[in-house]
Amino acid sequence: MRVDVVTVFPEYLAPARLSLLGKAIGAGTLQLHVHDLRKWTTDRHRTVDDTPYGGGPGMVMRPDVWGDALDDVLESLSPETRIVVPTPSGIPLTQRRVEDYAQVPGLVIACGRYEGIDARVWQHFSKRFAVDELSIGDYVLAGGEVVSLVILEAVARLMPGVLGNEASAADDSFAQDRPGGALEGPVYTKPRSWRGLDVPTVLTGGDHGKVAEWRLQQSLRRTASNRPDLGLGTEEITGQ
Ligand code: SAM
Repeated sequence: MRVDVVTVFPEYLAPARLSLLGKAIGAGTLQLHVHDLRKWTTDRHRTVDDTPYGGGPGMVMRPDVWGDALDDVLESLSPETRIVVPTPSGIPLTQRRVEDYAQVPGLVIACGRYEGIDARVWQHFSKRFAVDELSIGDYVLAGGEVVSLVILEAVARLMPGVLGNEASAADDSFAQDRPGGALEGPVYTKPRSWRGLDVPTVLTGGDHGKVAEWRLQQSLRRTASNRPDLGLGTEEITGQ
């Protein structure tokens, strides 16, 4: 899969070369291309923004600079490539969407700064490509670069050969294979006893059926307590 990130801070993407993402890039499973938006500026100051029409605080990113950048970046890419526009006013990024992205040939992630990017850019490019305005949560960041890293990491760990044990992704919170897409419950490792706290005995008893039942109950409890907004009752999660 190919991911192109367009940003005014290409250095921000340096952590993508570490850990699982770095491994996916090294193996060629993921091809990451980071582009400096200022390459497409035409003035001495390499300006990418201007004052907003209609007035108000802040600056807006110019459509002409973004248009030229995206024309070039998209030129050689598959028409199935999706353009992702991080914005707090977008639709929420969910694990379903991440799974969907893991199936496409490529993503182009357009990192906004300031008050965001002139809306005409998406009016224009949505005639030829699917454009997703995407939010990673109900809070406001300073730019879309962190969002790129979030998307890259979430997608890469679903790609074949990236995780040490692929079964672990299928068992994660929100995973399609997890009953109802619920949250994962608590996890434990050695030592069996630590600072007076023991691992739940069911996990050390060797009865796989009981372990599965206990995990399901923990998953239900945690989902109801931490994420009532998911609207997952026992019926949705267990199918009973
Ligand atoms: N004026 C915008 C608004 O209120 O919707 C906020 C712009 S924000 C300061 C600058 C950039 O950060 C956005 O263009 C986007 O790229 C990114 N950003 C900030 N918060 C985000 C979020 N929750 N999800 C996705 N992108 C976000």
